[in-house]
Amino acid sequence: MNIILLGPPGAGKGTQAQHLVESRGMIQLSTGDMLRAARDSGTEMGRIVADVMARGDLVTDEIVIGLIRERLQGERAGGFIFDGFPRTLAQADALEALLAEQGETLDSVIELRVDDETLVRRIVGRAEEARAAGQPVRADDNEEAVRHRLMEYYKKTAPLIGYYHARGKLTSIDGLGTIDEVRAAIAAVLDR
Ligand code: AMP
Repeated sequence: MNIILLGPPGAGKGTQAQHLVESRGMIQLSTGDMLRAARDSGTEMGRIVADVMARGDLVTDEIVIGLIRERLQGERAGGFIFDGFPRTLAQADALEALLAEQGETLDSVIELRVDDETLVRRIVGRAEEARAAGQPVRADDNEEAVRHRLMEYYKKTAPLIGYYHARGKLTSIDGLGTIDEVRAAIAAVLDR
C-alpha cells in the first residue's frame, strides 16, 4: 500500500509516518529529511538548497523528483508513505508516472487539517523548547519562515487536495486531536 500524508508544516505528518513505519513496516519517504541530509553533508545539491529551505521556499521540482525517483527503485517493504511530497501539481504528476514505471499505484491520500495559528504555535513553541534545552533548532522554524512555508503550502500544495479528490483518493481528517486520536483516524482510513 502506497500513501501520501498531505498537510501544512506542523500538521503531524512526520510523527504519523513514524508510527506507520513501526506498526506496518512501511517506508517513510520524507523529501524534507532527504534535503536536510544533503544540506548537512555539504553536497553540491545541499549547498544549492540550504538558503531556499531556510527561507521556507520550495526547492525545485527537478531536485525533489530526482530524490524520490532514486528511492522508489530500492526496498519497498510494506509500501511507501510520502511525507512532504508531492508539494506541487508537477510533482504529483511525476509521482504518478514514477509509480506506474514500478508497476505500483497510489492507494490513498490522507489530508491532515490543522488551522494556521495552531501550526505556528506548535512549530515556534517546539523550537523554543529545543533552544532552551540546548538542542539544535531548524533554521526554518522561526515565525517568519513558518508563515512563509504556510503561504507556499496554500499557493502551491493545497491544489493537490482537489487533484486527489477528483481521483477519488482523498480523505481529510482532523489533525487537531491527540497523536493517538489522529493515529486511530489514519488507521481507520487504511483499514477500510
Ligand atoms: P519539510 O521537512 O517537509 O517541512 O521540508 C522542509 C523544507 O524542505 C521545505 O520548506 C522546502 O524548502 C523543502 N522541501 C521539502 N520537500 C519538498 C518538496 N516536495 N518540494 C519542494 N521543496 C521541498
